[in-house]
Amino acid sequence: MWNAEKCTLCGDCLVECQYTDYGREDAVAQIELLTKGGKPSILKECVTCCACNEYCPTGANPFDRINELQEKHGSLPIPPKMRQFMDAGATVPSSLIKGDPSRPALSLCVMERPLPRDAVGGKMFDGMTIAKGGDYFCYLGYVHIGMETPLKENAQKFIDSIKSLQNPEVVFLHADCHAMIARMPEYGIDVPFKAVHIIEYVRDYLRKHPGEISPVGKKIAYQRPCASRYSTQVEPALDELFELAGVERVTRKYDRESALCCGGLFSRINPERINPLMEANLKDAKDAGAEAMVFLCPLCMVTLGAKALEKEMKPIFITQLARMALGEIPYPA
Ligand code: SF4
Ligand code: SF4
Repeated sequence: MWNAEKCTLCGDCLVECQYTDYGREDAVAQIELLTKGGKPSILKECVTCCACNEYCPTGANPFDRINELQEKHGSLPIPPKMRQFMDAGATVPSSLIKGDPSRPALSLCVMERPLPRDAVGGKMFDGMTIAKGGDYFCYLGYVHIGMETPLKENAQKFIDSIKSLQNPEVVFLHADCHAMIARMPEYGIDVPFKAVHIIEYVRDYLRKHPGEISPVGKKIAYQRPCASRYSTQVEPALDELFELAGVERVTRKYDRESALCCGGLFSRINPERINPLMEANLKDAKDAGAEAMVFLCPLCMVTLGAKALEKEMKPIFITQLARMALGEIPYPA
């Protein structure tokens, strides 16, 4: 939620934006217009990476304001197929596999299809209640087509679906779901269960089973998804997870706060603007010596996985990495 009262008009958010080229003075002018509800050029230029929410030092959440006004003014040229693609999320067939009620439940959102087949399985997940499909869709992805209203309108429905699992603890495999949970206070909605980020769940499992780990022993580049801008508190857990799995997270330009969007959705809206940075992201990973690229979001993996492989970096989903460390599945040949 945009917190206008927290904005000091410092301009940092847009000066640091990696997709635009605003100097300090212009950035401040853009933010002033945003505050007044005008139509600054950033509404058309923003590729919806959510990063400026994290760049802002005061927690004003400038991207949330940009997104709100993008929708109000219809700023992004969204092809009808993109809207249909997004709306299809809620229609994905749902299923609920009841498991051990003493274990946390696992929500896959609508990510089962893009997820690698062996990403969920083995000791970490066996016996858990698993919920998947449109009934458990989180709606956060609409921000990438310049829309905020579907989040607001469906927030209660999302929480009610997860609540219906009747499990006090729910692990969210899709980072978007956890980000959506983080937005519930702005909608005035209580979250009546403990929401566990998949990074924390996997890290905790590895922590508890050190004797079962064989270090993977590879240099990996991490593709940080846009949703992580809403869950920055789990970053130390991710570093610990990599350490426990025995991989080295290479130091590179486009990681951590400076991560780039995978570009999966925006490349269908404005490929000229985002494709060069998608390529730069992969080159940066390769130049840093990565042998593999690790993904937290299944859609990021669909977008960049094959291109990473072309550069001889194995695409690996975060839970696959943990399963490799546990000796349950092999490192890709
Ligand atoms: S969301 Fe990303 S692209 Fe948009 S203004 Fe913020 S940093 Fe720039
Ligand atoms: S939104 Fe944050 S970073 Fe941007 S001008 Fe306001 S205080 Fe500065």
